[in-house]
Amino acid sequence: MKYSIALIPGDGIGPDVIREAQATLEATGTVFGHSFSFVSVPMGGVAIDATGEALPASSLAACKAADAVLLGAVGGPAWDHLAGARRPEAGLLGLRAGLGVYANLRPARMFPALSAACPLRPEIVASGLDLLIVRELTGGIYFGDRGRSADGESAWDTETYSRSEIRRLLTVGFDAAMKRKRRLCVVDKANILESSRLWRETAKAMAANWPKVELSFMYVDNCAMQLVRNPGQFDVIATSNMFGDILSDEASMITGSIGMLASASLGDSGPGLYEPIHGSAPDIAGQDKANPLAAILSAAMLLRYSLKLEAEASAIERAVVSVLEQGYRTSDIATGAAGETLAGTRTMGALVVKAIKESGK
Ligand code: NAD
Repeated sequence: MKYSIALIPGDGIGPDVIREAQATLEATGTVFGHSFSFVSVPMGGVAIDATGEALPASSLAACKAADAVLLGAVGGPAWDHLAGARRPEAGLLGLRAGLGVYANLRPARMFPALSAACPLRPEIVASGLDLLIVRELTGGIYFGDRGRSADGESAWDTETYSRSEIRRLLTVGFDAAMKRKRRLCVVDKANILESSRLWRETAKAMAANWPKVELSFMYVDNCAMQLVRNPGQFDVIATSNMFGDILSDEASMITGSIGMLASASLGDSGPGLYEPIHGSAPDIAGQDKANPLAAILSAAMLLRYSLKLEAEASAIERAVVSVLEQGYRTSDIATGAAGETLAGTRTMGALVVKAIKESGK
């Protein structure tokens, strides 16, 4: 099959890590017989320098025309003096809105080879940690009515969700659970919030369509506690914008390394947006120090969710595990323990490519 992928290298280490992610996609294509065509799309600081705009209309159009979009990172000190709406990060918000991606998927996975980086006691993560948070991205309290009273002495922010917004997000959650361990936990505050009660009602009404998925519910305060008490109990967590914002940061911290964490943002139709959760890391840009694995794992998510190429996605993930088990580490995940070999961005990428080609289909 032929697929077109829009690549947004962006700023800082973005080009460093996207180069390696592109190489792993090409290697996967060679092994599985697919052809990927890549179009490089300017966005962020580089686009501001070239055109004055963080997200030129032609860049958004190129992304919309592709089967999927893979983004490095945007931003950096060179553009920090600009006002909010003119900054590189505004391009990111414009891209998410332009693509209509309302579901944010953030896996938090602890690779056994990196367990020393986990801040929890070893016995707590003995059964492993591999969960996926599906966060609603374009509704809820971050987008609801807000304001101040005339005397400035009180303020309000409103959480509003429609049944259709909940349904489309939970559809992504149920579908994701089907591709994993088939357990979906809807996290809310249904003992207090009416909007949460609508989430529960909607989830229960949908469950019959996914009979193989075990549906459960948990209050958000309990979930925050359970994530550090026994994170291995979770498979997929689906939740609202604000709860997902908080819980996904907590979950990602448990894995111990920002350079390893991927994400996907999906809409109803059109291309999904895939990106590492880290920023542009200007302190190490262009120095062959960046860990490319978060971008490479984002490419695996792209294959899984946008192109429905599960075997190909798993091949990339297995290759990453294999390289880590051989002891290769970029400096952000190195502990200095015996058996570790320090690797730069290019070497790490090349090792993953080699592992994909060696393991075959
Ligand atoms: P950051 O994630 O860029 O860096 C935080 C720290 O983690 C730095 O020490 C950096 O060297 C390290 N780090 C990050 N990614 C790494 C990787 N792959 N390998 C090794 N080390 C890595 O966050 P920051 O310093 O707060 O932000 C820097 C710039 O990135 C800012 O301009 C910010 O606005 C932007 N940013 C962009 C995005 C995005 O594009 N999605 C997200 C967050 C921050």
